[in-house]
Amino acid sequence: MRTVLVLGGTGEARELARKAPAGTRVISSLAGRVTSPKLPVGEVRIGGFGGVGGLVAYLRAERVDAVIDATHPFADRITANAVAATAEAGVPLLVLRRPGWTERAGDRWTWVDSIAEAAAVVGGRRAFVTTGRQGLGAFARGVARTVDPPEDATALEIILARGPYTVDGELELMRRHRVEVLVTKDSGGEMTAAKLVAARQLGLPVVVVRRPPAPAAPTVDTVDAAVDWLTRGSAGA
Ligand code: NAP
Repeated sequence: MRTVLVLGGTGEARELARKAPAGTRVISSLAGRVTSPKLPVGEVRIGGFGGVGGLVAYLRAERVDAVIDATHPFADRITANAVAATAEAGVPLLVLRRPGWTERAGDRWTWVDSIAEAAAVVGGRRAFVTTGRQGLGAFARGVARTVDPPEDATALEIILARGPYTVDGELELMRRHRVEVLVTKDSGGEMTAAKLVAARQLGLPVVVVRRPPAPAAPTVDTVDAAVDWLTRGSAGA
């Protein structure tokens, strides 16, 4: 039986664990960042590996035949580690990344490279910040939505919630908090896209944090393409 390590923490990684071809042992790996993560089906390990060296040792100890990096597009450290460790251990790697979002007619988006730059663009306006629990101290007014409470002080009101979200729910939230600008990462995907539709309908500007550079590794953008890669034997993709 082949062993595949899926670096997860995303809906796509959970879907991949469900759809993996028969005869595959899938080990799903989570960082252990959120207090009660949604767990994939099957075997799960939780916690960091201890850098590139730790990941190489893990790949060897578990006799991993292939790695699929299905982590969030902004989780760039684990992705860099996966590229380096699979090269060192001689294990094939596939990156599964959902496409980013694209502007539509009526959108008023400003692209920035970091959360700090997003906060500078927002200035004193009431923001709806959806970039996670880090860097919230830089925003002056508004509301942030996070899965777990932020560790650092912030002037923002915190809403603890986890997607998926509806357009009606997002419209209600933005109106209730008198939001003047939405701040998001270019995470992509359907689970959290409703806020962009709501901002368009309300005519609100959106500040979008660009993704980190794509890794130098074979990449697909759907779970089905990753399943195909596994079915074909994880070689030459
Ligand atoms: P990161 O900055 O790229 O990684 C930091 C460290 O966390 C890594 O060096 C690694 O520790 C450990 N790690 C990260 N993902 C791991 C995984 N799937 N399995 C085992 N160890 C992992 O990652 P992050 O941005 O903090 O994201 C952490 C997790 O949350 C990822 O699984 C990601 O898919 C998920 N997530 C992230 C975001 C986001 O916006 N960043 C959003 C939604 C979900 P060692 O070096 O010790 O191995």
